[in-house]
Amino acid sequence: MITAKARAVDGPDQSFRTAEIVRRDLDTQDVLIEIKYAGICHSDIHTAHGEWGEVNYPLVPGHEIAGIVTDVGSEVTKYKVGDRVGVGCMVDSCGDCVNCRKGEEQYCLKGNIPTYAGVDKYGEPTQGGYSSHIVVTEDFVVRIPDNIELDAAAPLLCAGITTYSPLRRWEAAPGKKVAVVGMGGLGHMAVQIAHAMGAEVTVLSQSLKKKDDGLQLGADSYYATSDPETFEKLAGSFDLIINTVSASLNMDAYFSLLTLDGTLVNVGAPGEPLSLHVMSLIGHRRSFAGSMIGGIRETQEMLDFCAEHNIAPKIEVISADEIDEAYKRVLVSDVKYRFVIDTSTM
Ligand SMILES: [Zn+2]
Ligand SMILES: [Zn+2]
Repeated sequence: MITAKARAVDGPDQSFRTAEIVRRDLDTQDVLIEIKYAGICHSDIHTAHGEWGEVNYPLVPGHEIAGIVTDVGSEVTKYKVGDRVGVGCMVDSCGDCVNCRKGEEQYCLKGNIPTYAGVDKYGEPTQGGYSSHIVVTEDFVVRIPDNIELDAAAPLLCAGITTYSPLRRWEAAPGKKVAVVGMGGLGHMAVQIAHAMGAEVTVLSQSLKKKDDGLQLGADSYYATSDPETFEKLAGSFDLIINTVSASLNMDAYFSLLTLDGTLVNVGAPGEPLSLHVMSLIGHRRSFAGSMIGGIRETQEMLDFCAEHNIAPKIEVISADEIDEAYKRVLVSDVKYRFVIDTSTM
């Protein structure tokens, strides 16, 4: 039995408290990771607040995990003690269904096992990265390239892969015009990745407050969606729109910005159903799609891509005592652009 220090929450309206949690003893293919940094994702907040369905409290959130391997099971072949590694939004899947076999474990037909608020194959609740240690089967561990600092690596495990995967799938590349809706944790990664893939990148943000950052991160242009002229001016412009916003938007207005055969991909997940006029899609054979994180192989590919192109999130490192305050600030978009917990302060 391995005990880990953690920060847990006991209910939807509760503050974080110190906790000790138990990690399983290493199975033959398990890796023990000493967590160094854990990013704070908006999903952590939705889950901690009970907004995404029933939660078995106490809950330790965190699915942007970066750390060092400190022990390995007897049959582990991919990692050794001292390796720099990461864990993202899932820690296991069936491994056997058609989607798992394709390396798309996030879409496992039996459901992937989320890093927290799930139940693992031993029947135990999963607890996430706001903790000192975690045990994960080696197939769900990725390697962090040497030239990415561990604190900056953490948000890549969710925000990075969530935006990388649709940009790859819908082929952001030279000659393509890509718009990123929302300039937050996800958006500021999408801008950098799409730019590095060679696309012409436009940010569509509510205001121009973060324009300088957007341009500095690689956007070619930046527009305020609060200005109605934006939608007139950019009508029919984009091959691909990545929508990172989890609030309900006027989807028809955004579809009108797509070219013939253009696609709008939602990675933000609004809690309420959206309404749209199908004519906005039919008119120019447009598509509306969704995308959820990425598979393990693709997550490794994303990390290697970020290393090669010197891409990193902009982060604000906080101590474990500052999680509640950080949550409040995320909810009012007062973060540039991701909070990362220094777990040595647990
Ligand atoms: Zn996340
Ligand atoms: Zn599966």
